[in-house]
Amino acid sequence: MEVISEIKVLRSYIAQNKLQKKSIGFTPTMGALHEGHLELIRNSQKENDISVCSIFVNPTQFNNPTDLKNYPRETDKDLKKLKSLGCDTVFLPSASDLYEKDDVLNFDFGYLETIMEGKFRPGHFKGVGLIIAKLFNLVTPTRAYFGTKDLQQLALIQKLTKELFFDCEIVPVKTVREDDGLAMSSRNKLLSANERSNAVDLFKALTAAKEKLISGEAVKQAKDFVTDYFKNESKIELEYFEVVRTSDLKNVDQIDPNEEVSLCIAGYLGKVRLIDNISLI
Ligand code: AMP
Repeated sequence: MEVISEIKVLRSYIAQNKLQKKSIGFTPTMGALHEGHLELIRNSQKENDISVCSIFVNPTQFNNPTDLKNYPRETDKDLKKLKSLGCDTVFLPSASDLYEKDDVLNFDFGYLETIMEGKFRPGHFKGVGLIIAKLFNLVTPTRAYFGTKDLQQLALIQKLTKELFFDCEIVPVKTVREDDGLAMSSRNKLLSANERSNAVDLFKALTAAKEKLISGEAVKQAKDFVTDYFKNESKIELEYFEVVRTSDLKNVDQIDPNEEVSLCIAGYLGKVRLIDNISLI
């Protein structure tokens, strides 16, 4: 496994592989790797000649400095996992390599920035867009792998790729869950044992709301149910629960069986912020 930290080394490695007409699968991550990340990389390995995984805790996407400071970092463990998976290449850049003090680029994703994650984490998606654009320019992937766990991020990256003509296929990968249904997340490592057992409430609420919608209850009723559930029966402090059209993330008031709909949720368990979503189908 090649472990590369310098941009110029990465560029020449990529150039060599391009000369040999090899397809490049890319999985950007912030490390503290779990089965969800590994599933992305497995997909990349199946579909490409070489697979590159990046590990970089991107400071510009953290709107909260404490969150950035506390974000789990376990590079040695990550490298072991990637090696045993057979990942070809790991890119481990430093912040000073990727950002200059006088950087000026400022993406604006319009509507996508104003809802859900964008609304509650101001500036988050500007940082996500910026780092993905930088990494795509360096890695020049044939395909890039992203989890549907971060549905809004996926939509934004699809938009970014299209608008900037990146010659890259964005491949969504289904959310990998723990046995009890909790979506795997690096942030789960920050939960105490007690918090961990309560964390599944996000998935429970999503599943119950989905059942209600499928059985014909109105979106408003499903939303009221979720609000009451977190007020009365859970330790999670609900931040938002939205029912959106998957194609454009616009809110829906009524379920149209011809359109794919997603149920999206975020909440705090103690100081840890968790998100999840499920599709109505
Ligand atoms: P992160 O390290 O949190 O930035 O995530 C890196 C990539 O892994 C993103 O595309 C995430 O959507 C994806 N990911 C995170 N958790 C999961 C999961 N439980 N299942 C599938 N993909 C995931």
